[in-house]
Amino acid sequence: MVQKVQKKSLIMSSQKVPSKLVSIIACKCPRCRQGKVFPYSSLNLIQFSKTNDNCPHCGLMFEHETGFFWGAMYVSYAFSTLIMIVFGVMGINLEWSFTKIVSILVPTILLLTPFLYRYSRILLLYFISPNRHFDEKYS
Ligand SMILES: [Zn+2]
Repeated sequence: MVQKVQKKSLIMSSQKVPSKLVSIIACKCPRCRQGKVFPYSSLNLIQFSKTNDNCPHCGLMFEHETGFFWGAMYVSYAFSTLIMIVFGVMGINLEWSFTKIVSILVPTILLLTPFLYRYSRILLLYFISPNRHFDEKYS
C-alpha cells in the first residue's frame, strides 16, 4: 500500500515538474524549472536577447555576478564552430565550392543566432554555474 502511494506520488510529481531536458529546451529556470529565463520569444528579433534578472517563479537571480553571461560567449563559439565543421565536412563530401559553403553557412548561422544565444546561456546556467541545481521546494 505504501509503495503504491509512493509510486503514485512519484508519478504525480514527475507530471508536475518537467525533466531537466525539457526544461533546457523550454529555457526554464534551473532551480524551479517553472519560470522563464527569457521574457520574449526567440522569434522576436528585437528583444530575443533580453534575459530576466530574476526567475519570475522562484526569484533566483540568473546573473549572480557581473559579467556572468560573458561565459556564454564561449559556449556560443563552440556551437558556431560545430556548425562550421558540420557544413565543412558536408561541403567537402558533396564537393561544394568554398563560395557555396560560405554562402550557405553564413545565413544559417545568422538565422540560428537567437537560438545559439539563448541556449548558450541556458547551458551555462544548467551545467557550468555553481549552485544552480533543481530544488523541489521551489517548483
Ligand atoms: Zn525559478
